[in-house]
Amino acid sequence: MVLEICTVGGFSECGRNCTAIRVDDEVIILDLGLEMESYISHTQQDRENVVKLDAEELIKVNAVPNLHLISDWMDKVKAIIPSHAHLDHIGAIPFLASRFKGVPIISTPYTIEVISTILKEERLQISNELIIKKSGQKYKVSKNIEVEFVHVTHSIPHTAMLVINTPYGRVCYANDYKLDLTPVLGKKPDLKRIKELGNEGVDLLICESLYANSHRKTPSEAVAKQMLKDILNNSCADGHGLVVTTFASQIARIKSIIELGQKLDRKIVFFGRSLRKYLLAAHRIGVLRIPKEIPLLSRRHELDRMMRKINREGQEKYLIVCTGHQGEQRAVLSRIARGELALKLNSKTMCVFSCSVIPVELNIKNRERLESTLRSSGVRIFRDVHASGHASREDHREMIQMLKPKHIIPSHAGFGLAHHLRDLAVEMGYVDNKTVHMMEDGKRLIISK
Ligand SMILES: [Zn+2]
Repeated sequence: MVLEICTVGGFSECGRNCTAIRVDDEVIILDLGLEMESYISHTQQDRENVVKLDAEELIKVNAVPNLHLISDWMDKVKAIIPSHAHLDHIGAIPFLASRFKGVPIISTPYTIEVISTILKEERLQISNELIIKKSGQKYKVSKNIEVEFVHVTHSIPHTAMLVINTPYGRVCYANDYKLDLTPVLGKKPDLKRIKELGNEGVDLLICESLYANSHRKTPSEAVAKQMLKDILNNSCADGHGLVVTTFASQIARIKSIIELGQKLDRKIVFFGRSLRKYLLAAHRIGVLRIPKEIPLLSRRHELDRMMRKINREGQEKYLIVCTGHQGEQRAVLSRIARGELALKLNSKTMCVFSCSVIPVELNIKNRERLESTLRSSGVRIFRDVHASGHASREDHREMIQMLKPKHIIPSHAGFGLAHHLRDLAVEMGYVDNKTVHMMEDGKRLIISK
């Protein structure tokens, strides 16, 4: 009669999310992600790419969850359940899933489609069965474990709060969400079900806490769309080349960009491997229909051919969407800026960064370098045209109020920030210092026995 949690990864740092939940002699794994900065510095890959690598090596450089922390649980694992398709939640699956023979991977349609796409594009193989469950649906892992997928909003389609029902208690796993009541793509968060869960009883909430110290409610994706509209529709954009860069997996943002480009009667082109990957996955399952006339180009010769055409016809007729928002050296935007690709930049080019700078040293340096190279060609820059996908303090307040959990584990922030969620939860009175658990990677907590 035991319900026990092991915080495997993503609790001492931000990234490589992984939580294991043991119910007697059965275990499920929630998320199996990459720690992007370690992964990028180890592989020299772009932010949104995964390539074939040795799993032990990745564990050694802290790029994937350290499964040795649950070596005594490995043969008990019955399911791997990712909450959404960001690489810090699914990116370790190609390397680690085959350690769990015969264990299915269960998630929402877009999440499963992205996993399949990565495996196919990178020629990686796993033998685990991939099972699709829509939000609102449940999946019975075993007699004692049932998982329910509750829809929440985030910066990628089909994000779920995972609800684990067991005879010994209920765990809610809200590891990445925001409460966006006017989403640009997909449904609003399922507040009705979240409130119901709270009334039925929640024993433990594992909750992201990245912006728990940001005293506000995170703006809606509709705000980011309006910010983009103000820039692209403005008369100062007339006769100018428009280059927009954003997260490849930010499908709602890309929907807004396509709509705005079409209204301006510009020809839209996408440049970059990761954009192509996430957009094809969205197109295949009908999350976002990409019109046939919009090319998704990733090969060098395709890029150069199209860019020469744009130079000939005039940049002002096009809306270019490309990878490289963090200033990644090998991504399309940096290569354009350095003159390595055919597109000619000049004072009539506007470059819109529809993203934030992820605040780690490498990104900050790369972005500074990229922006100064762009400026040296006379390019006008628009920064931070963006709304985050992560909950802020007031979203957390709402979530905690709805769920009324008996215990809380703050996640996805690292130790420097997670305590802000603890302080909020204690201040609200649902938990106290003994029932908010500040967990490091590898720590275990028994919720009931
Ligand atoms: Zn996420």
